[in-house]
Amino acid sequence: MPNKYARKLAAKLAPDPAAFLAALEAGKSARPAVLWLGESVESPFESLPPPPWQPAFVEAMADGERPGRNPLHDQGAYYCLDLSSVFEASALCGLPSGGTVVDVCAAPGGKTIFAHRALAPERLIANEVIGKRLGPLTGNLRRCQVPAETRCADPSVLATELAGQARVVLVDAPCSGQSLLARGQDNPGAFHPVNVNSCANRQKRILAESVGLLAPGGFLLYSTCTYATEENEEVVAWLLSRFPELMAQELPSHAAHRSPHASFPSYRLWPDEGRGFGAGGFVALLQLSGIQKCV
Ligand code: SAM
Repeated sequence: MPNKYARKLAAKLAPDPAAFLAALEAGKSARPAVLWLGESVESPFESLPPPPWQPAFVEAMADGERPGRNPLHDQGAYYCLDLSSVFEASALCGLPSGGTVVDVCAAPGGKTIFAHRALAPERLIANEVIGKRLGPLTGNLRRCQVPAETRCADPSVLATELAGQARVVLVDAPCSGQSLLARGQDNPGAFHPVNVNSCANRQKRILAESVGLLAPGGFLLYSTCTYATEENEEVVAWLLSRFPELMAQELPSHAAHRSPHASFPSYRLWPDEGRGFGAGGFVALLQLSGIQKCV
């Protein structure tokens, strides 16, 4: 039974509080998807019709498919991720390709691999501040043959070294991970206000450093896998007030999921939505003012 903090959040934010709480309790909202890395392999999977935000190189698995167990997985033909991660990362689709892309919070590598596929950057930097998470990151990049440079640095160090160089920066931020419950994983304290506030503060620090990486006209993608507005919308509102040269971008492909909890464009997915788009998450795409140069 979801605790009192989850029930409070449901009553305040969820479009259908009862269905949301039932999804948390059932823990069955994960929707595996595969991100194909090449064009040449014919899919052996049964898949679902794509929602408007799903790019052609992603396939959402029908119930019962286990893509992680297919030999094509170990051969690096695709990367497996939850469909709600695709919802977040697909905000990148349509951005200019090439240039330098920095993934500030990269492990285990899903968004880095997505950025490689969607943007074909000239330089791709996958950073992970927690040393023991570098192994899974480098392993996934190697298996999927993604030519990224890996780093293990605090965002403040990156911001100094790579100041003003990135056309696109990804901050798939460490968060309270409330959606893990909808995937059937334990996450005690995910809804506790102290935890939520501490995650929000950490996200603000990471994002403020990450703005320094952006080249003029560059894009910052901020995403989480949690539902609280203290993370998500309120973090974006704080960032926009601190950096008035940033502007939140409309995402027409995500329009059906526009958050009603912000005056600027930002998008959230609930675990009880549609025919099962995954465990849920949040995304906002911000652009720094200025003319984009060839970086
Ligand atoms: N983007 C990854 C993907 O798609 O596979 C998932 C990233 S996960 C949501 C957040 C990552 O942020 C974790 O790998 C975590 O170790 C990292 N992290 C934790 N604290 C951080 C900090 N202070 N600064 C930067 N990254 C941090």
